Parts: sequence; structure tokens; C-alpha cells
Amino acid sequence: MEATLLSRTAASVQDHLSVSEASLSDAPPRFHLLAKPSGSTCNIDCKYCFFLSKEALYPDEKHRMSQVTLETYIQQLLESHRSPEVTVAWQGGEPTLMKVEFFRQAVELVEKHRKPGQVVQHTFQTNGILLDDEWCEFFKKNNFLVGLSVDGPRAVHDAYRVDRHGNGTFDMVMRGWNALRKHAVEFNILCTVNAANQHHGRAVYRFFRDELGVKWVQFIPIIERATEQTIHLANLGWSEQGGRKRVLYTQTGNLVTERSVGAKQYGLFLMDVFEEWVRHDVGRVFVQLFDVTLEAFFGRHLLCIHAPTCGFGPALEYNGDLYACDHFVEPGYRLGNIHETHMVKLMASPKQRKFGIDKRDSLTAQCRTCEVRSLCNGGCPKDRFALSRDGEPGQNYLCQGLELFFTRSRPAMEKMAKLFREGHPPSDIMAITASEDKRRGPYAPCTCGSGRKFRFCHGDKSPRASFEAATPGA
Ligand code: SF4
Ligand code: SF4
Repeated sequence: MEATLLSRTAASVQDHLSVSEASLSDAPPRFHLLAKPSGSTCNIDCKYCFFLSKEALYPDEKHRMSQVTLETYIQQLLESHRSPEVTVAWQGGEPTLMKVEFFRQAVELVEKHRKPGQVVQHTFQTNGILLDDEWCEFFKKNNFLVGLSVDGPRAVHDAYRVDRHGNGTFDMVMRGWNALRKHAVEFNILCTVNAANQHHGRAVYRFFRDELGVKWVQFIPIIERATEQTIHLANLGWSEQGGRKRVLYTQTGNLVTERSVGAKQYGLFLMDVFEEWVRHDVGRVFVQLFDVTLEAFFGRHLLCIHAPTCGFGPALEYNGDLYACDHFVEPGYRLGNIHETHMVKLMASPKQRKFGIDKRDSLTAQCRTCEVRSLCNGGCPKDRFALSRDGEPGQNYLCQGLELFFTRSRPAMEKMAKLFREGHPPSDIMAITASEDKRRGPYAPCTCGSGRKFRFCHGDKSPRASFEAATPGA
């Protein structure tokens, strides 16, 4: 019997959903997919969070992942990997809006579809507001690694991380942090660097280390792009609360909101943290960018942003739509839907491969000849909307800060790399730095690049300013 239109369509969908050797070998052996089970919906209203505006991509829909999509996602993710390690990463919006039961099922589905020998790590990024005993018992039992979003002590955290009434969320987040600690859940801190905390790197870091007992921290620069037409609305924020009109955030425009971190200030923030870390905490506290920079000296690029190419961090929306990257959840970067085409084929598609290779091929001349290119690699393409020194478009907005960080941290990084090559722990750098400090004149310029004298900067043991003094909107 001749195939009907419907049966032909079903057969072709079936074909798209099968995994061939060819599609497996064209796709990366391993990738880090961020799944958004509640889309971009969140229970708070951070002023800089342009992800809130992504709800506009799917108007009039309930943004919740169905059972069918959950199982399709887990099954395809495990089928797609050719490495024994697989990360199942949950993100948002706010994934706790899905309730614990949804994730219990996710864990069961992983066990159902796991290939022999596959080791699965569950990660979960949350604002911490809803964390309680039930959540933390579940995380502990299933070895989840939890990322908690905190921007520093109360004054800087509450500058932008606010609820729907505009009130700071610090106390609620600290309740979540207490619950994580009580149940000994493994967690790390994700801290954005923005206009409110950009002058307080060392004090923010000390707060995490000394007050929260954090062993692992990740800093993310806030850069909210806008055009002349959208900058006014963008400065108001990305939520629809309070009857505000909002725009769908896309990676366009060469202006930035007033909440965004300054380019040079980003580098100074990182160096402020680095100079503290290199004196006291190497091997004890892990700062993601410092770790991956040291790895780069051995030719390993563990963070897409500073790797030569990218495209291994797709984002999955609640309905099965797959996008090239979490930062490009917008129509032009939709790869397809996993109910129609298997994830591994979407990852192997020419569109996704081009997305990743363009990161290298679109570097400006300034980047191509840059002294720290092997460490920086031009940064994330989403931030390449400035002009280079020669006036070439496509320079990273953060370039000045990136150059400052990679150049100034390099001597210590090189010493750590050498120590490691010679069979010594990189943490020996702390003793080396201490002896260099003894020889350094107190009135010599500080190594961090602040322009201050060493004695009044990293030669000094106290944080250098109160938060309230320079916290916009706090
Ligand atoms: S666009 Fe940026 S964040 Fe996305 S994968 Fe590439 S480097 Fe990473
Ligand atoms: S520091 Fe600036 S010029 Fe150098 S690679 Fe990075 S973005 Fe390009």
C-alpha cells in the first residue's frame, strides 16, 4: 500500500528522531545543555535579568515542561553523549517552580535511560528563595550540585536582586543558603558583576569565603545590550510587573544599561579578587575563571567564553525547542525541536557548527594579534559589539577589562603552571607571593592595576570601602 501523507510524515519524523552513526560522529562527544523546565518564568524580578523578557517568545502558553518532553529530553541527552560523563543541568527562570516531584521523575528517567558506564551529574541553578528541607533532602540524596545566585552582602545583593514589589531578596536567599548548609548539599555561588558591586571585588569575595563558607565561586559580568530606541525601556528593567511595557531582549545594539558592569571595571574587579586569592586561597577556594585560565596554559579550554570556538552549550526550552546557546534564546538561533529532530542531529547541524566556529573566525585584527589571545580568545560573541582600537566593529565590549585581567594575572599564572609542571602544588604560589610582597616597597603601585599604592591596596588587610557608600539604588 502506498504511504499516505500522514504516514510519510510520521516515517520522516521517526527518521529524524533516530540516531545514526553519522550524526553521532558529527556532533560533539560531550556538551553542556542547560534545560529550562519552567522556561524563563521566575518568582523574583531581578532588575538586570533580561531572561524574564524571553517569556514573550511563547505568549499565552503555560511555561512548564511536560512529562513527554522531560522523558524525550533525558533519553536524547544520554543517547547523544559519547563520553562516560553526562551533566544534566537545570536552569531557568527558576527551576524550583517545577516542584520537587518533577525532578524526582527526572532522576528516575536518568536511571531508566542511562547507558552502561555512564556517570551522570545533576546540577541545579537557583535563586534559593524556595529552598527548604524537602528540596535539600532531595538534592543531598541524589548528589545534586546546586548553584546559588548571590551578588554579595545585603547592600549590593539587594541593589538589583529584588522581588516583584521591588524589595531586596537577601534574607530569603540566606534562608535557602542555611537549608543547603543544614543538609550538607554541595553548592557553589554564582555572582554577577554589575554596576552595584563592581567596585567591591575583594569584599564580595571575602563575604562568600568568610561568611558563607563558599569553596567554589563563579563571576558573571552583567552586560545588557540596547539600542537608541530600546535603552530607555531597558533601563527600566525586563519585567512586566507594575504595568511596565517591555521589549524582548535580543543580542542587538551597542549601548548598555546603567546596571551593566564597566569594561575596565570588570578587569579591576577580577584582579581585586585575584590578588586576595593568590595570597590566601589557592587550592582552597576555586574561582572558575582563575581555574580555567590556569588550564589554558596547558592547552585546555574548559569555559566556552575563553575557548577558541564554542557551540557546546545549547539551551532547551520547556517545550523542546533547542537554541544554540543560553545567551541566544531568540528566533534566529533556534536549532529545532527535539520532538521533531533528535538532539544529536541538531547539535551536529551545519547551523550549530557554524555558530561555534564563527567565534574564532569573526575575531577582529586587534584580537588576532593580541598578546593574551591564547587565554582570552576574544570572549563571548554576545559581547562583541564595540569597536576595536582601529575602529573595526566586533570587538568585545569587555576587552579593556579582559586584557587587564589576563595581562596582570599572567605572571602569577605562569609561576603556578611552572610549579605544576615541576611536580609542585600550584598553591606554593602563596609563599612565593608573600616573599615578593616583603621585597615590594609599600609605596610601589599595587599589582592589581588599581593605580593605588600597594600599602593602601592589596598590601592592606582590610576591605577598602563600605558597600553602602557606592551602591546605586541600595
Ligand atoms: S555564545 Fe558565548 S556563552 Fe554561548 S557558547 Fe559561545 S562563548 Fe559560550
Ligand atoms: S583581551 Fe581584548 S584584544 Fe585580546 S583577545 Fe581578549 S578581547 Fe581580544
